[in-house]
Amino acid sequence: MARVFNFGAGPAALPVEVLEEAQRELLDFKGSGMSIMEHSHRGKEYDAVHGEAIQNIRTLLALSDDYTVLFIQGGASMQFAMVPMNLLGAGQSADYVNSGAWADKAIKEAKLFGKVNVIANTGKDIPTRMPKNSDLQFTPDAAYVHITSNETIAGSQWKDFPRTAAPLVADMSSDILSRPFDAGQFGLIYAGAQKNLGPSGMALVVMRRDLLDRAPATIPTMLKYKTHSEENSLYNTPPTFAIYVLMLVTRWILKMGPQTLYKQNAEKAGRIYHALDASAFYKATAVKEFRSDMNITFRLPTEALEEQFIKEASKLGMKGLKGHRSVGGVRASIYNAFPMAGVDALVAFMKEFEKKNG
Ligand code: PMP
Repeated sequence: MARVFNFGAGPAALPVEVLEEAQRELLDFKGSGMSIMEHSHRGKEYDAVHGEAIQNIRTLLALSDDYTVLFIQGGASMQFAMVPMNLLGAGQSADYVNSGAWADKAIKEAKLFGKVNVIANTGKDIPTRMPKNSDLQFTPDAAYVHITSNETIAGSQWKDFPRTAAPLVADMSSDILSRPFDAGQFGLIYAGAQKNLGPSGMALVVMRRDLLDRAPATIPTMLKYKTHSEENSLYNTPPTFAIYVLMLVTRWILKMGPQTLYKQNAEKAGRIYHALDASAFYKATAVKEFRSDMNITFRLPTEALEEQFIKEASKLGMKGLKGHRSVGGVRASIYNAFPMAGVDALVAFMKEFEKKNG
């Protein structure tokens, strides 16, 4: 069976080794005679999986004991609400950066709970970009500052995170574990799992423990970070299979070496951007200094050519290149598990397509 090159933005390509391992263990997990999906979440088999998943995240992000690692259902979208619900006290305000469609959704949700100051807005800028750190003016006494580290639709990425007095909160859904950064600079990080971590429907949350007590007593138990932290993400039945796959994915990163992976990611993005810059036919959508290494967005001279490009690429086994329906264009999502061979295939196809249609 031939696997295609999956350029989808999420759910996205998973490492083949991980899929194979999950397949090998699907019917009989480690000689237990049942699948990990069928095991009790309170049993010793699942307990080991759960523990390793958390430990792998702790190792990869070099987390100190000041941080708790949580798995919460509802994807990153649930976090848009949980963050202000838990962290935005009565009468307080929070600073948000609007850098695009995902930040905008986070802002809309936060406004349901309190006062939001949008301290920078590049959300509608074309070419797409993040604000410069020097342009940010934080509100004194803000409860927290919220940013989106990588705008999946716009193809723009924060390269250098701002230093803030208030806890820095980041939606890292589309670039978590793709590059080195100092997690100790953040109050809370959340990420939907379906790009760099595993299956959809769950978010990874990493947060400073001192922030757990900010939540008002009146919020629902399941929406309180403290519940999940106190119960080690086992308050209710967690998405055990998703956490199992996340454990395999993080084990895969550790085995390869995170530095090797980070270098590979930069190389993959570099090859596509190089092809874009070498051509007058293709036009990268993001400002150079904010170009995403995960979601590479570009345009062709006409929408008709874009449609043809995506169709022909699909016939050659390069799937999911269509830009988000809200912006059009072409988007190549090349998360951690996306192979270099797929990048080279795309670059070769881009050259061929330009020769024929340019
Ligand atoms: N934030 C970002 C940056 C995203 O890319 C996405 C999904 N593409 C989300 C949030 C929403 O994630 P979910 O679908 O898991 O709720």
